[in-house]
Amino acid sequence: MSVASPRRAGEWLRAAERNLPLAADLNPLLGPAGGVLVLAPHPDDESLGCGGLLAACAAEGRAARVVVVSDGAGSHPRSRAYPPARLSALRQEEARAAVAVLGLDPLRDIAFLGLPDTAVPSAGPAFEAAVAALLRLADPAPSAVLVTWRHDPHCDHAASFTMAAALVRALPAGTRFYAYPVWGLAFAHPLPGFPLPPEPLISEPPRGIRLDITRHLPAKRRAVAAHASQVSPLITDDPQGFRLPPEALALAFRSAELFLEVDPA
Ligand SMILES: [Zn+2]
Repeated sequence: MSVASPRRAGEWLRAAERNLPLAADLNPLLGPAGGVLVLAPHPDDESLGCGGLLAACAAEGRAARVVVVSDGAGSHPRSRAYPPARLSALRQEEARAAVAVLGLDPLRDIAFLGLPDTAVPSAGPAFEAAVAALLRLADPAPSAVLVTWRHDPHCDHAASFTMAAALVRALPAGTRFYAYPVWGLAFAHPLPGFPLPPEPLISEPPRGIRLDITRHLPAKRRAVAAHASQVSPLITDDPQGFRLPPEALALAFRSAELFLEVDPA
């Protein structure tokens, strides 16, 4: 048996985007009637990475729940008009509006763990408490758990992956586990002005599915736009505050979403 030689993350992702099967509906991802639990490290990741999938779930009457892991209060740290508590409240409102646009119930189908932005834990008591909270939210048990990719170059995205893996290990055997890359896409499609860490090397060949979201793209665009603090000049008093670059939006608004099958071990 030969062992595949490791590939750089960007090349690996481009191969996944080229070669993984393209599904026209949710059955290959979720089975005939399964639902999803989506972990979003920040309010907006659910729409950027899974907006089409969530809209498809709603359209098919499948159960879908989004759990936002961090409070999102770190996007505009110098704003006086939006100190952390106000910014966090705004971002919750935006996330509720976004999932409503996708067809979910903005009260029932989204929950917020409220962990500190840029300091989501990946071990320790706060981590264990978060996994316990996720287990309570995963009732009824979803057929699949989705989370950002472990190689996304953002500490909260990697920590959320670790958290989701712990959740999947505690859920019934057979629960499917997929990663959706957000910032990791920059390894394959460099974003101007977006610094990248050294490119990780990946040994295993890509597994997973691309979901055709053409029908749901208009809703996905509206859901991303609902995160007005991240995509528009809503907050004017922090010039260095975060704004999603147009190139990242263009990656999110392609006709397929990528779901990488990953191992929770
Ligand atoms: Zn994020």
